[in-house]
Amino acid sequence: MIWDLVIIGGGPVGSYAGYLSAKNNIKTLILEEHDKIGEPIHCLGKLSIHAFEEFDLPKETIVNDLKGGYFFSPSGEYLKLKKDSSDSFILDRILFDKTIAEKAEKSGCSYSLNSKAIGVNHYENHSTLMVEEKGKTKYINTKVILVAEGAKRQFLRKIGLKTRPYLVSLQYEISDLNPLDKECVEVYFGSNYSQGFFLWVSPFKNMVKLGIAVNPSYNPKVFLDNFIRNKLKERSEKIYIEKAYGGIIPIFGPYEEFIPPNILIVGDSAGYNKSTTGGGIYFGLKGAEIAVSQIKKYLEDNSISHLSNYPKLTKKSFGKELIFTKIVRKFLNSLNDNDLNLIWAILKENDEILKTIEKHGDTAYQTSIIKIFPNLITSKNFFKLLPLIKTFVKSLL
Ligand SMILES: Cc1cc2nc3c(=O)[nH]c(=O)nc-3n(C[C@H](O)[C@H](O)[C@H](O)COP(=O)(O)OP(=O)(O)OC[C@H]3O[C@@H](n4cnc5c(N)ncnc54)[C@H](O)[C@@H]3O)c2cc1C
Repeated sequence: MIWDLVIIGGGPVGSYAGYLSAKNNIKTLILEEHDKIGEPIHCLGKLSIHAFEEFDLPKETIVNDLKGGYFFSPSGEYLKLKKDSSDSFILDRILFDKTIAEKAEKSGCSYSLNSKAIGVNHYENHSTLMVEEKGKTKYINTKVILVAEGAKRQFLRKIGLKTRPYLVSLQYEISDLNPLDKECVEVYFGSNYSQGFFLWVSPFKNMVKLGIAVNPSYNPKVFLDNFIRNKLKERSEKIYIEKAYGGIIPIFGPYEEFIPPNILIVGDSAGYNKSTTGGGIYFGLKGAEIAVSQIKKYLEDNSISHLSNYPKLTKKSFGKELIFTKIVRKFLNSLNDNDLNLIWAILKENDEILKTIEKHGDTAYQTSIIKIFPNLITSKNFFKLLPLIKTFVKSLL
């Protein structure tokens, strides 16, 4: 038997691609290395409202509505940026992944659990994937392969592709603790909280998720445990960590790869994550839509250009957003704690800028922040930022 499409990875992006392709009558199989969909979990599950407007996603998996955040400087000053209405949601990520997979199955997509793709051979009109299932190797034939195996890129590394550095992360689910505001995330910047990223506290059901990502040369647990000792103990004497889990986050921009003759890559495997926040679900789903549309055209007329054009099309659709976040991440990572404190001080005295961010800021489309530039340039303290402009220009290179 030859499948039209085999998707490697049953995460939200792979399953959503499976859902779309099965709906388009593409004979689709998803390989998932674990025995359950959605587990082990690694993610916070924050997703922009745009995702629910644009994609057919299960609303019942939303557990919290968010309207903004409290952004803390290294010295402890905070900027509160809160909209009047929700701008994103926190999902039950396990349920989210499972429900999308159920929708995919109902549409006709097949799943093979405990099945890890480990290699591939190409033949004239199909490819054969080598798949490890409980210690045995099986062979699966397909016309097209869509890799949605997440940030580790295990299969891609096996077939010789490189993987860029990434951040390591750790998250605790903590019960009996309230966030500062049930409609906002708390984000902590500075060298005490993280190296190379930030630390977050987010509402999650009636608990909080405390999380961090750091450069891999640091231990995320040290930062989280310090935070509990120095900050959270002020809020609650006893801290109950119900669950701890981690993962890796690619933040060095999209890969833009096409592997001839028939391998497309999507989601975290393709680096479709915002470098500022690590969020990858939204652009992963967008990538899945584009991939399936190109695969459908390829299966109709056999023209390989539909597949090889896929990286260009994703770049056209959201490449600008991803590159912008990469520049901002490079800029942020080149600032020291004093630079960050200065930026906070200037923003704090400028109500217009904060209002512009509240009005136009968009967690998915972060280029919207450019709208603050006119206010920033005319701000009376703009000259204080001049030394940082050189650093910003360097981030563009
Ligand atoms: C701590 C943390 C917090 C995060 N918070 C957010 C957030 O709030 N919002 C957001 O948008 N994003 C967040 N992310 C990123 C988000 O988790 C990913 O962008 C998202 O899960 C990407 O989905 P995916 O389907 O591409 O990959 P994954 O969800 O990683 O799914 C890949 C699947 O492929 C399977 N697999 C791997 N290799 C193979 C193989 N060779 N064969 C078969 N199966 C394989 C894996 O078991 C997994 O099920 C966070 C990440 C981390 C680590």
